[in-house]
Amino acid sequence: MHELHITESLLKTALEQARAANASKVLRLNIALGDGSGYTEDSIRFYFDMLRKDSLAAEADITFRHIGTQMRCRDCGATSSAQDPTWVCPQCHSMRGELLCGGECYLESIEVE
Ligand SMILES: [Zn+2]
Repeated sequence: MHELHITESLLKTALEQARAANASKVLRLNIALGDGSGYTEDSIRFYFDMLRKDSLAAEADITFRHIGTQMRCRDCGATSSAQDPTWVCPQCHSMRGELLCGGECYLESIEVE
Protein backbone atom coordinates (compact mmCIF):
# COMPACT_ATOMS: atom_id res chain seq x y z
CA MET A 1 0.00 0.00 0.00
CA HIS A 2 2.97 2.25 0.62
CA GLU A 3 3.90 2.12 -3.01
CA LEU A 4 0.42 2.89 -4.21
CA HIS A 5 0.49 6.04 -2.13
CA ILE A 6 3.91 7.24 -3.31
CA THR A 7 3.09 6.43 -6.94
CA GLU A 8 -0.13 8.43 -6.70
CA SER A 9 1.75 11.42 -5.40
CA LEU A 10 4.53 11.10 -8.05
CA LEU A 11 1.92 10.95 -10.80
CA LYS A 12 -0.03 13.85 -9.33
CA THR A 13 3.10 16.02 -9.21
CA ALA A 14 3.99 15.08 -12.80
CA LEU A 15 0.50 15.96 -14.05
CA GLU A 16 0.53 19.27 -12.23
CA GLN A 17 3.85 20.17 -13.82
CA ALA A 18 2.62 19.07 -17.24
CA ARG A 19 -0.49 21.23 -16.92
CA ALA A 20 1.58 24.19 -15.74
CA ALA A 21 3.76 23.77 -18.84
CA ASN A 22 0.71 23.49 -21.14
CA ALA A 23 1.94 20.08 -22.28
CA SER A 24 -0.21 17.80 -24.43
CA LYS A 25 1.36 14.72 -22.91
CA VAL A 26 4.04 13.49 -20.53
CA LEU A 27 6.81 11.51 -22.25
CA ARG A 28 8.93 10.59 -19.27
CA LEU A 29 9.11 10.80 -15.50
CA ASN A 30 12.57 10.96 -13.96
CA ILE A 31 12.33 9.58 -10.46
CA ALA A 32 15.00 9.58 -7.77
CA LEU A 33 14.71 6.39 -5.76
CA GLY A 34 16.68 5.93 -2.56
CA ASP A 35 17.94 2.42 -1.94
CA GLY A 36 16.85 2.78 1.67
CA SER A 37 13.33 3.98 0.84
CA GLY A 38 11.82 0.49 0.79
CA TYR A 39 10.23 1.15 -2.62
CA THR A 40 11.10 -0.91 -5.66
CA GLU A 41 11.06 -0.01 -9.34
CA ASP A 42 8.78 -2.92 -10.14
CA SER A 43 6.06 -1.99 -7.72
CA ILE A 44 6.14 1.69 -8.69
CA ARG A 45 5.82 0.67 -12.35
CA PHE A 46 2.98 -1.66 -11.47
CA TYR A 47 0.92 1.01 -9.72
CA PHE A 48 1.88 3.61 -12.29
CA ASP A 49 0.41 1.43 -15.04
CA MET A 50 -2.76 1.13 -13.01
CA LEU A 51 -3.12 4.83 -12.19
CA ARG A 52 -2.10 6.61 -15.36
CA LYS A 53 -4.94 5.46 -17.64
CA ASP A 54 -6.66 8.34 -19.43
CA SER A 55 -4.20 10.85 -18.03
CA LEU A 56 -1.59 13.00 -19.77
CA ALA A 57 0.94 10.41 -18.65
CA ALA A 58 -0.84 7.45 -20.28
CA GLU A 59 2.15 6.74 -22.53
CA ALA A 60 4.91 8.01 -20.30
CA ASP A 61 8.06 6.08 -19.56
CA ILE A 62 9.81 6.06 -16.18
CA THR A 63 13.52 6.44 -15.60
CA PHE A 64 14.85 5.72 -12.13
CA ARG A 65 17.99 7.21 -10.64
CA HIS A 66 19.14 5.21 -7.67
CA ILE A 67 20.46 7.00 -4.62
CA GLY A 68 22.82 5.00 -2.45
CA THR A 69 22.23 4.85 1.27
CA GLN A 70 24.50 6.90 3.52
CA MET A 71 24.59 6.33 7.25
CA ARG A 72 26.13 8.45 10.01
CA CYS A 73 27.24 7.02 13.30
CA ARG A 74 25.56 8.68 16.29
CA ASP A 75 28.52 7.83 18.50
CA CYS A 76 31.62 8.86 16.53
CA GLY A 77 30.16 10.79 13.58
CA ALA A 78 31.72 8.64 10.86
CA THR A 79 29.71 8.31 7.64
CA SER A 80 29.62 5.32 5.36
CA SER A 81 27.45 3.73 2.75
CA ALA A 82 25.15 0.97 3.86
CA GLN A 83 24.07 -1.99 1.81
CA ASP A 84 21.92 -3.73 4.34
CA PRO A 85 19.70 -2.66 7.24
CA THR A 86 21.92 -4.17 9.91
CA TRP A 87 24.41 -1.34 9.80
CA VAL A 88 27.51 -1.33 12.00
CA CYS A 89 29.89 1.64 12.16
CA PRO A 90 33.19 0.76 10.44
CA GLN A 91 35.08 3.07 12.86
CA CYS A 92 33.78 2.20 16.30
CA HIS A 93 31.41 -0.73 15.62
CA SER A 94 28.47 1.11 17.09
CA MET A 95 25.08 0.09 15.77
CA ARG A 96 23.47 3.46 16.45
CA GLY A 97 23.42 4.81 12.93
CA GLU A 98 21.08 7.35 11.36
CA LEU A 99 20.06 7.48 7.75
CA LEU A 100 21.52 10.57 6.04
CA CYS A 101 20.18 9.93 2.57
CA GLY A 102 18.80 7.08 0.56
CA GLY A 103 15.36 7.07 2.18
CA GLU A 104 13.80 9.38 -0.36
CA CYS A 105 11.67 8.84 -3.40
CA TYR A 106 10.65 11.89 -5.40
CA LEU A 107 10.05 13.22 -8.89
CA GLU A 108 13.18 14.94 -10.21
CA SER A 109 11.83 16.14 -13.54
CA ILE A 110 9.49 15.30 -16.38
CA GLU A 111 9.77 15.45 -20.14
CA VAL A 112 6.71 16.67 -21.95
CA GLU A 113 5.48 17.31 -25.44
ZN1 LIG B 1 31.05 5.11 14.99
